[in-house]
This record gives sequence, structure tokens and C-alpha cells, in this order.
Amino acid sequence: MNIVLMGLPGAGKGTQADKIIEKYDIPHISTGDMFRAAMKEETELGLKAKSFMDKGELVPDEVTIGIVRERLSKPDCKEGFLLDGFPRTVPQAEALEALLADMGRRVEHVVNIQVDRDELVTRLTGRRICQLCGATYHVVFNPPKVEGVCDRDGGSLYQREDDNPETVTNRLEVNIQQTQPLLDFYASKGVLANINGQQDIKEVFADIDALFTNGKD
Ligand SMILES: [Zn+2]
Repeated sequence: MNIVLMGLPGAGKGTQADKIIEKYDIPHISTGDMFRAAMKEETELGLKAKSFMDKGELVPDEVTIGIVRERLSKPDCKEGFLLDGFPRTVPQAEALEALLADMGRRVEHVVNIQVDRDELVTRLTGRRICQLCGATYHVVFNPPKVEGVCDRDGGSLYQREDDNPETVTNRLEVNIQQTQPLLDFYASKGVLANINGQQDIKEVFADIDALFTNGKD
């Protein structure tokens, strides 16, 4: 099963990715992991990617796509894969189609976990961190026993500067604008499934699971 997982920050992508790979026994392939592995193995493409990253530049598409091709050619991807963080753009999605076609394969499901913007802002701005031990809390989803105080050591909790509503909203806005063309692309291919991410974690997974099961002949 060849899957692309999409969703905005805070949508719960990581949680669902864990559940998918556990049930379907396919590798979770995130862009970050792929780059780190290629650099560690010092493959030609890995070293090329590193040279751009060291300069603080974006890695060009042909390098990224080459790394994706190498990764998807590995034996553990034979039964499928869960791509996360790639593709990010329509040209990357087209390149992915082409390289999979070379392997006689295709993207079967694009799972987009949908959560309202307001809900995402709530999720992303509610995070609090203990200044002593670094434990993280959430004012709504995982609150400490006493407001503003760490359960473990009584340290006071603070909010990361990046987690303020304005920064979070801007970050989401940029993300939404970047993702929309990609969602349109996959919708036009008939492989996009929008999943309601504002349910219980189990229910979100049940919807994803039903999608995969129904898709099988
Ligand atoms: Zn603490």
C-alpha cells in the first residue's frame, strides 16, 4: 500500500502515522529521516544535499527526488510505504508519479487529516513547558494539576515564543497556501481522502483504516 500522509501542523499526523505503520507494517518515511539517513550513509545524493543544507540553502528538487527514489527502492518498501512531508509541491508530486511509474507502482491513497484553523490554533498555542525539567503540557489536552506549575517538580511553566497566536496563525496560513495546490492535484487524480481530524484519535484511525480496507479488492 503506497500512501502519502498530509495534514497541517497540529492535525495529529504523527500519531496516525504510528498507527498506520503498526497495523500495515510499512515503513514511515519522513523527509527529515530520509535526508539524515542519506547524509549518514554518505551517498552521493546525501552529500549533495548536505552541501546545500550547510550553506543554509534549499535542497534542489532533483536531489530530493533522487533521495526519495533511492529510499523507495529499498526492500522494506516492497509492500508499500507511508510518505510524510514529501511531496510538498505539485512538481514534486509529478516527479513522484514518474518515479513510481518506473517501478510499476503508484500512489494509492493520499490521506489528508483535516482540522479547522481555529482548532489548530488552540492546539498549537496551548503548549506549556516546564522551565526546570522541560516537561510539556497542554492547557486543554494535558493540563498540569495546578495551573502554570509542573506536576513533577513545581517548576513554573512557560510558553515558547513561537507558540503565540500570531506566529502560529501566520505559520498555518503559509502552510495552507502551500498545500492547497497539492491537494487539488491529488483530488484531480482521484486518490485524495479527507479525514476528519477533529474526532477522537481512535475514530480518526478507524476512518483511515476503513479507507484502506475498502480500497482493497
Ligand atoms: Zn518540571
